[in-house]
Amino acid sequence: MAIIKTIGILTSGGDAPGMNAAIRAVTRTAIYNGFKVKGIKRGYFGLVFNEIDDFTSRSVSNIIQQGGTILKTARCKEFTTPEGRKTAYDNMCAAGIDALVVIGGDGSLTGARIFADEYDVPIVGLPGTIDNDLGGTDATIGYDTALNTIVEAVDKIRDTATSHERLFFVEVMGHMAGDLALNGALASGAEAAIIPEMETEIDQLADLVNRGFRKSKNSAIVLVAENPKTGGAMGLAQRIKEEFPEYDARVTILGHLQRGGSPTAADRILASRMGAAAITALSDGQRNVMIGVKNGELVYVPFSKATNHSHRIDHDDIDLVKILSI
Ligand code: ATP
Repeated sequence: MAIIKTIGILTSGGDAPGMNAAIRAVTRTAIYNGFKVKGIKRGYFGLVFNEIDDFTSRSVSNIIQQGGTILKTARCKEFTTPEGRKTAYDNMCAAGIDALVVIGGDGSLTGARIFADEYDVPIVGLPGTIDNDLGGTDATIGYDTALNTIVEAVDKIRDTATSHERLFFVEVMGHMAGDLALNGALASGAEAAIIPEMETEIDQLADLVNRGFRKSKNSAIVLVAENPKTGGAMGLAQRIKEEFPEYDARVTILGHLQRGGSPTAADRILASRMGAAAITALSDGQRNVMIGVKNGELVYVPFSKATNHSHRIDHDDIDLVKILSI
């Protein structure tokens, strides 16, 4: 096994609050343990187009509280081709990088797995995405902050929903995982969550209406996970207009608002622990694993498991939202 002297770090895919805390933890733990660190700009784009800087412990000063990512992030088409990955590998070698820490979501870790298989590069991943849609981990970096942003927004929407006695569909991110919608609904006291995990099981909108969800209330808030197939909250509002015209429905799409903001304490702590664990993993000869957290303990999750869409939501929580909104 080749000795690792220099570790490259990159953030890829959608940005998530806490990525900076992870960059800081990776950089400082690596330097503390005698490694050199290089920061790669704009995700895989920086590997393909050679945007690589030397990092010192000062490069990551004063960032733990900042949202976004100081390394920038991007989606890089070139890296999905064998030619692009060959260029990335050549640039990585020329910069003297022996191993990578990749912070990103499902696509970023899929790219990492393919790259590691092709070039035998030691890579450790960190789950950086607000969607909480990765397998093998209870939480991803950025999820808690996004959830808190959603709750704050829904609390405000409730004021107008109550005053006007309206039904509101609030669309949140998570087209592969309903965690933001479901736990956002639980935390904000919403009447229901409409999530991708239940899409093929029941007609969630009809179920909601048939349950008589507004019998004892004159306003309601439903959290809806974005869904390109059904049109998400807009699609549901259209269906209400056509199928249940007795309701006066409004739509709020929270969109990129959910990605921003200073990370919560929980996300900063998670990112710091995971960032340090990535360096321990590489030092211990771990390869092609994502750092996850299960029942409070850090675990190594093979990339294949992290990205196989095995993440599950708790069906009891779906029932709990309904029970608590009677
Ligand atoms: P988010 O969960 O926020 O969307 P993500 O990591 O899933 O983040 P993607 O856009 O899916 O975001 O992936 C980020 C980048 O990872 C892509 O732009 C591409 O460079 C790389 N990538 C994704 N899938 C592959 C693949 N199959 N092969 C090689 N590289 C890939």
